[in-house]
Amino acid sequence: MKQLEMLVIGFGGMGSYHARGLIKEAENVNVFGVYDIDSKKRSAAQSEGFNVYETLEEALADKKIEAVLIATPNDSHHDLAVTALKAGKHVMCEKPVMMSSDELESVLAVAEKENKTFMVHQNRRWDDDFLIIRELYQNKSIGDLFQLESRVHGANGIPGDWRHLKEQGGGMLLDWGVHLLDQMLFMVDSPVKSVAADLSFVLGDEVDDGFITYLTFENGVRALIEVGTSNFVKLPRWYAKGIEGTAIIEDWDLSGRLVKQTGEIDHHNLTPIQAGQGLTKTMAPPSEEATTTLPLPKITADFDEIYANFYDCIRNGATPIVKNTEVMTILKLIESIFEAHEKQTVLHF
Ligand code: NAD
Repeated sequence: MKQLEMLVIGFGGMGSYHARGLIKEAENVNVFGVYDIDSKKRSAAQSEGFNVYETLEEALADKKIEAVLIATPNDSHHDLAVTALKAGKHVMCEKPVMMSSDELESVLAVAEKENKTFMVHQNRRWDDDFLIIRELYQNKSIGDLFQLESRVHGANGIPGDWRHLKEQGGGMLLDWGVHLLDQMLFMVDSPVKSVAADLSFVLGDEVDDGFITYLTFENGVRALIEVGTSNFVKLPRWYAKGIEGTAIIEDWDLSGRLVKQTGEIDHHNLTPIQAGQGLTKTMAPPSEEATTTLPLPKITADFDEIYANFYDCIRNGATPIVKNTEVMTILKLIESIFEAHEKQTVLHF
């Protein structure tokens, strides 16, 4: 079938990554052209051999272009998406999809009216570290996972320019938070029951430079999600507790392990250890016979790559892997996290 010709809107960090890599490597999808509001970015794209449009109108008027990727600052997603959909183009939009659930509602209404595919690039559903935790969650190899801790820690503060500004959708909750929340809700097959949140403003920006949120799900699972940008020592990317074991993934390099209970722990005959200025049985390591240490499983996604799926949705009416209802739930959850922080209260649903 005919390949899908795409326009990349925004040739910054992420747009150029799509143009040079993600779209280029995808079967049946092609970068037909690039548009950026900044002439320097347009020149950069041109010097790399991309077909560059001087104006958005000119690009969207090109009948050969069937779909656009929106990879511009967050506050511009809404208007660009509406303009592209009304020009008859399908849309792949970078995360966070919009600044608010109201904005998303308005875009989805246009997509429906124009009968065009609108999909969000929630690419971290394909991250190997996440897929490992999801496999443990689904296949219960360390028993039911009941507590999940998902963290990303950096020490570089908030990068760039627009990410510092509220009106442009800056801050870490909208930036990294949307990825970690998307992973968690894609994995845990149960509605969120309550939300507690604490946003951090230690670096003096008008937007959050990190946050901790604690979610409880109706099925009893609890999740802590944390993003930090002033963490000179990182905590592990994932720490997951199951009924029969614990999993740790240190980083995106997938270093980590599972420790699984294999035998009975004799609660009556524990040997105390010296701990600081005291003795403890409770915190003594379980006996070697009672546990085994295993490598993390190797996992590949059991669902298509995002551009393969985007193509399939447009050409064959396939079901989107990133569903707009899911994206809406995440945006509403983000709004609840802001509210829980502002009111310093736990929100119950
Ligand atoms: P960036 O600042 O590096 O690039 C943005 C580009 O958009 C710039 O070249 C700018 O000139 C251009 N631009 C701004 N307004 C425009 C407009 N109205 N029309 C056309 N071009 C315009 O930002 P970035 O880091 O590439 O982020 C862009 C988007 O990608 C954001 O929504 C961000 O959240 C998302 N992103 C996603 C991931 C991911 O892993 N999915 C990673 C990074 C960024």
